[in-house]
Amino acid sequence: MDSRFNSSSETSRNKCAACFRQFNRMEHLVDHMRTSFHSVHEPTCGICQKHCRSFESLREHLIGPLPKLECARIFAVRGCSLCLAVFDSPNSLRVHRATCQLSRPVAAYRMFNSGTYDDLIHFECGRTRAPRVVAASCKMVGGGSDGSLDLCARVCLIDESERIIFHTYVKPQIPVTNYRYEIVGIRPEYLRDAMPLKQVQRKIQDFLCNGEPVWKIRSSGGNARILVGHGLDCLGLEYSQHMIRDTAKYPPLMKTSKLSNSLKYLTQAYLGYDIQTGIQDPYEDCVSAMRLYMRMRSQFHAVEDYPMASEAPNQNNFASWRQNELERMTPEQMLETSRSDYYCWCLDAKRET
Ligand SMILES: [Zn+2]
Ligand SMILES: [Zn+2]
Ligand SMILES: [Zn+2]
Ligand SMILES: [Zn+2]
Repeated sequence: MDSRFNSSSETSRNKCAACFRQFNRMEHLVDHMRTSFHSVHEPTCGICQKHCRSFESLREHLIGPLPKLECARIFAVRGCSLCLAVFDSPNSLRVHRATCQLSRPVAAYRMFNSGTYDDLIHFECGRTRAPRVVAASCKMVGGGSDGSLDLCARVCLIDESERIIFHTYVKPQIPVTNYRYEIVGIRPEYLRDAMPLKQVQRKIQDFLCNGEPVWKIRSSGGNARILVGHGLDCLGLEYSQHMIRDTAKYPPLMKTSKLSNSLKYLTQAYLGYDIQTGIQDPYEDCVSAMRLYMRMRSQFHAVEDYPMASEAPNQNNFASWRQNELERMTPEQMLETSRSDYYCWCLDAKRET
């Protein structure tokens, strides 16, 4: 990608309008656009408008060890180091910081050292659509001969306003060989008469489906609820992928396309406080995941009729039979044609209005 030998007009013509990579030949830029899925939903530098795949790479661009100097200089004066947005003045940054910097929720584990708290019944009776979004998390104990097999032993569910709606210890299906007390605070007597895993899963699934048959739940959801969490596979739920928002698998929050950030890291970097110090609390994890979700969901992105590359009207956007036509486009026109390969959570907010 050495562009020093090109004339300046040619390099700017072959420069990706999103990530600014430069290509010697227009056809290479077309190839790049075909596989990059750039879109208005990518984390974008508020100063130079460069698109990044993740907030992690945007952070590097702005405040990493080797930032883009022009952007870093402005960002240092009026950029928010948590959400990475840029403001008009240091004063509007100060006003914003008061809402962006959150504080650690009060731990819940002392409240429930045994037994179950179940407010789901309340919602079942009311047959209400609220809450539309719930966050779940679980804590694991060890099974197997060396205690390394993860077994779900404690589950917590909260609503949008961070209220606990369900909490229980879980009786694992196989014997526990390591209670991991120092990490998760679980004692044998908490699990002895606890709710069996299958029953917990069924309860949560029913609450999430909210009367909709699970096979019928498509992206529109109907009455079904959105489930938020970090690494939700541990719960072993059978639920529609359309309704799951996992902060461990969401491209803008990941380290690389294959590597997740830990919830502890995400909370520290994007919400501004520490979690999981001392005995871990599933309530605290729920709150982190919910807050991260709300932050992603409240982003203002341009509205598109068909935001996803996988949607039918977009399927020929970069088709090989359009190669000549694509090579005649400007980089900006190509970016307008390009769509996201992941479902941006800002679309949840648009769907409800
Ligand atoms: Zn690009
Ligand atoms: Zn978006
Ligand atoms: Zn920039
Ligand atoms: Zn902020």
